[in-house]
Amino acid sequence: MPHVLVLNASYEPLGVVPLRRAVILVLNRKAVCIEESGAFIHTVSAAVPAPSVVRLTRFVRVPFRSGPIPLTRRALFARDGGRCVYCGSVATSIDHVVPRSRGGQHAWENVVASCRRCNHVKADRPLRELGWRMSRAPSQPSGPAWRIIGTGHRDPSWLPYLVPYGGADLLARTALNTGAPKPPDPLPTPA
Ligand SMILES: [Zn+2]
Repeated sequence: MPHVLVLNASYEPLGVVPLRRAVILVLNRKAVCIEESGAFIHTVSAAVPAPSVVRLTRFVRVPFRSGPIPLTRRALFARDGGRCVYCGSVATSIDHVVPRSRGGQHAWENVVASCRRCNHVKADRPLRELGWRMSRAPSQPSGPAWRIIGTGHRDPSWLPYLVPYGGADLLARTALNTGAPKPPDPLPTPA
């Protein structure tokens, strides 16, 4: 089932709902469709264009959210764009930057998505020992855009609505990483 981005009346991203729920919001005039997916939904009496983004007709006050964001596999992979932070290939596992055997915490600041190979090569050694670097220090994600990205659902038509809300950096990474796989490494030049 496709998912639909829900914006507040103020255009702030609020969340992601299944298509069926978004259509009901539109039919009940609780929301208006502002981006169509190109597909149609057939109701008893008509064919309705399926939305990919809807905006609530009335402003909803969002309660202030605080406290830690749960560190789940899905959320972690979403933060890291589904790619290994060490080599950029498809992530299949979770790595503790400072190994747990050396006192590393299971926390946003010390957990990254990694591929099986890097995870295996790294084993319980610190990055320093391997000469490996990360392009950025891992941190707990935040901001309204994260509410969307963190669900693991994504759609290119959502991007313009998410970029102004603090996740531009995160989104750029995620958008890039949803594209074609990386080109293979160039062949070594024969000596
Ligand atoms: Zn890797």
